[in-house]
Amino acid sequence: MDKQFKIDITKGSSSKLEKTNFDELAFGQVTSDHMFVADYIEGKWQNFRIEPYAPLQVNPANATLHYGQSVFEGLKAYRNEQGEILVFRGDANQKRLNESAKRMCIPEIPKEIFMEGMRCLLEVDREWVPKQAGCSLYLRPFIFAADDYLGIRPSKKYKFMILASPVGKYYAKPVAVKVETRFARAIEGGTGAAKAAGNYAGSLYPALKAQKDGYDQLLWTDGKTHQYIEESGTMNVMFVIDGVLITAPTTTGTILKGITRDSVLTLAHEMGMPVEERFLTVIELEEALNSGKLEEAFGTGTAATVAFIRLINIHGKDYELKEVAPTAFSVRILEALDNIKYGKVEDKYNWIKKY
Ligand code: PMP
Repeated sequence: MDKQFKIDITKGSSSKLEKTNFDELAFGQVTSDHMFVADYIEGKWQNFRIEPYAPLQVNPANATLHYGQSVFEGLKAYRNEQGEILVFRGDANQKRLNESAKRMCIPEIPKEIFMEGMRCLLEVDREWVPKQAGCSLYLRPFIFAADDYLGIRPSKKYKFMILASPVGKYYAKPVAVKVETRFARAIEGGTGAAKAAGNYAGSLYPALKAQKDGYDQLLWTDGKTHQYIEESGTMNVMFVIDGVLITAPTTTGTILKGITRDSVLTLAHEMGMPVEERFLTVIELEEALNSGKLEEAFGTGTAATVAFIRLINIHGKDYELKEVAPTAFSVRILEALDNIKYGKVEDKYNWIKKY
């Protein structure tokens, strides 16, 4: 990979900006006017370009369609009061994309391609970063197999792309979750720690079943014993029991190493909040709900930052949680993270890159 590489920019002749209602943004429905694209051919990333957003031509034998050799990321760009664009922890997403890629036999994306591609897309589609409070531009980098071949083997060709989509608040309302003890999102030795497309396909059926019963998300348990709580939907999950913040460790390879999770833990230490990175059992959770010791439960992820949990179903029984007080840890952490993301406070940890 040459240090110096050129991105060809082709701008579209029309824009969707005028037609987009930034006051009513649903997650993932609108994409910006352009996209970044790169090809991996003959062992080399090349053809770096910004193009008008448009459908791709797909050969029906494309390897991704059949075998799901594909990984992705999700991160956000925020606009501060001075109109500058702030991207939160993009380097961490770049690193995680490559960790996921490695697990799926996909060639890694050099850091400078990821960063320059993102910078260039943000420059061309700068006006797509919403000005409305609580809104942001969601960025979706992804890599997928591009071979047109029906045999199973790692593809020889790939595409790396970055899309951008303006978004509002993800989970405005606190969510109801159900502890899943039949299906599993991940198992030890599997691909749970990777942001691999297939993980999400496999989670749809159990999640849909729970939604039909009136729950927003699942609380995933470990695939072997279903006794240990791992994640919630597509978020990491945290509990405050007796003043202690508890979240599952990421050492088993079954849990995605959430960047929000890491940020919350960093700030929790700074705030003097006791933290235990350990597996909470379903039994412990049930006991804490029965005894009233469960003070807070919430998901953490890029889409929502913090998603408050209002109800947990365990083995068919619904437990309502106390309403979160304005002084609750989850409320304070959400505010602290938002303040960093929107550039309202000092960026002590160097999490922000300005554009
Ligand atoms: N777990 C899963 C399975 C996810 O898809 C996500 C979203 N990326 C997360 C956790 C949260 O990760 P992050 O905080 O990096 O968005």
